Amino acid sequence: MVWWSKTWAKGGLILAIIMLAGCKVSGTTSGSYYEYGDNYYSHGHFLDARDTGHYFPAASWSLNKASQACVGETLYFETANARVRVYGSPAYSDTAFRAAATELDNRIGGVLNKFRMSWQDFIVDRTAAAPYPGHLIACLSPSVTSAELSSASLAAVAVAAYPGSWPYDAGRIFTHDLAHYVQENLGRYDSDHSLLPLWFAEGQATVVANEPVASAYQHYDYSPLQDVYAHSAGSAIYRYEHYGLAYRYLERANGSLAMTLLLDLVQFMDWKNYHPGTISSGEERAFVEAFDAMDLVDHRGHYLSFARFRADYHQLVGASY
Ligand SMILES: [Zn+2]
Repeated sequence: MVWWSKTWAKGGLILAIIMLAGCKVSGTTSGSYYEYGDNYYSHGHFLDARDTGHYFPAASWSLNKASQACVGETLYFETANARVRVYGSPAYSDTAFRAAATELDNRIGGVLNKFRMSWQDFIVDRTAAAPYPGHLIACLSPSVTSAELSSASLAAVAVAAYPGSWPYDAGRIFTHDLAHYVQENLGRYDSDHSLLPLWFAEGQATVVANEPVASAYQHYDYSPLQDVYAHSAGSAIYRYEHYGLAYRYLERANGSLAMTLLLDLVQFMDWKNYHPGTISSGEERAFVEAFDAMDLVDHRGHYLSFARFRADYHQLVGASY
C-alpha cells in the first residue's frame, strides 16, 4: 500500500531530525527580540499586501468565522524571521500586532516540540493546500473576545485585538489554540471540516497546553469518547479533563510521535480521498481507518483497534493505574 511508504518515510525523517537535534542545545532566536516597556516584542516590519502581493487567505474552507474578519485587510506585521504574519485593521494599535506576533512566534516552537516536530518538519508535513505553507498566519479579529483570546483554523489563528485586556493565562490559551492550529494543518488535506473527533482534538490540545487532566481513577465520571462533535457534546466544564485523560492514555501507551503520525495518516487519507464519510457512531471514517492502520496498542502493549478503545474505554483506563 502506497501510504505506508510515505508515512514511514516521514516518520523516519522526524526521528532522524530529533536525534540530530539532541547533539546540541537548541533554542529560540533570542537575538531577534528587543525590550519594549515591560515586555519583549519580536522584531519585525509592518508591510502592505498591496506592495508585497501577500494577501490574507480568502478561501472559506480553510478559515473559521473569526479569522474571516481579515479577508480584505492588507496591513500586516511580519516577524524578522519571516515566520509569523499578523493581519488586521489599521484601526488597531501597533502594539496589538506586535504582541500577537510575539506570542505566536515565541510559542509555536514549544508546541511543535510536543508533536515531536521542528518548524521545518511542520512546513514539510502540513497540508500542501495551506495558503502560505512557510508561514504562521494570524488575524486580529473583533469577533474573538478577550476571554477566549484566540481560535485556530487551518489557514490562520484569530486573536483578540486588545492585548491590554488579554487574560492572565494568555500563554496557556495561545498554546492550546496553537495545538489546534497544528492539528488542523496535519490532520486534513483540503476537507472543509476537521476529521478528528472532538475528544481527540480537545484532549490533545489539553495535554499540549499542560491543562488539568482527570485522574485515571475518576474515569467513571465521564465518557469522553461519546463526544464526537462539539454540537452534541455534554456541557460539563470538567469534560475537557476527561478528553485529556482519553488522549493521554493513547499517548502514554504509544508515544507522542505515533499521535503525530496518526494525524499525518488522516491527512493522507483525505488527500487520496480514501474512506470518506463517517461510521455509524459519527467518527470520520478516515480517522478510524488511520487509527486502526497505525497498529496502536493499549497500556499492556496489545493491539488496540478504534472499536475496542471506544467499547472498552472504562475497562482499559480503569486497569491502567
Ligand atoms: Zn480547544
